[in-house]
Amino acid sequence: MVEYSQILQNLEFINISNDEFTIFEWKPPRSYKSFILDLNIVKQNPVSNIFFHIFKGNMKIVHIRINDLIYTAGSTNQVQFQLLEALIEKVSIEFNIKYDVESYITYGNFSTTQFNSFNKNIEDIIAGFNELGTVRELKVPCMVCNTVLPIIVKKSFIENAESYPVPLVYTHNGHAILCFIDKNYDVRGVELVNITG
Ligand SMILES: [Zn+2]
Repeated sequence: MVEYSQILQNLEFINISNDEFTIFEWKPPRSYKSFILDLNIVKQNPVSNIFFHIFKGNMKIVHIRINDLIYTAGSTNQVQFQLLEALIEKVSIEFNIKYDVESYITYGNFSTTQFNSFNKNIEDIIAGFNELGTVRELKVPCMVCNTVLPIIVKKSFIENAESYPVPLVYTHNGHAILCFIDKNYDVRGVELVNITG
């Protein structure tokens, strides 16, 4: 059993913003780091409903814009992007259940302190992440590393796919493999792919 809650101890921050300002931010206890420069870059991306990944030194940052709110999570490199995506999906759902954010923003009569209690929700999501069952770990052989890699996939990514098997690229140690995953989370093929950018 993979201890996702343990892996998520490597989180650096979770931020919820609109285009103007931060509405909510969670950081681990005793973290005084500021991610304002990263968040400014994230806000410049106008595209909605698609997850974006940023590699930054020894950090990974994932962000998505949904209904004019921007959800961002940052972690050390140990955390796979799909796990960060699954975390953001859960955070965005809970945040919108707990708060009618849209009407707060429309009427402008709110103080961000009213979202402080969401820190407890974040801690509960992290602590209970295994029980959520939103991700699975697959074992995928890499012909370059000559080893079997643990790759985390979001269940929503497989279950909402338009066709099967679903392709997934896993970039690691300067190279990438393309794996094909079927409905039952079986890996149906693995290829080495070239990367550019
Ligand atoms: Zn490899």
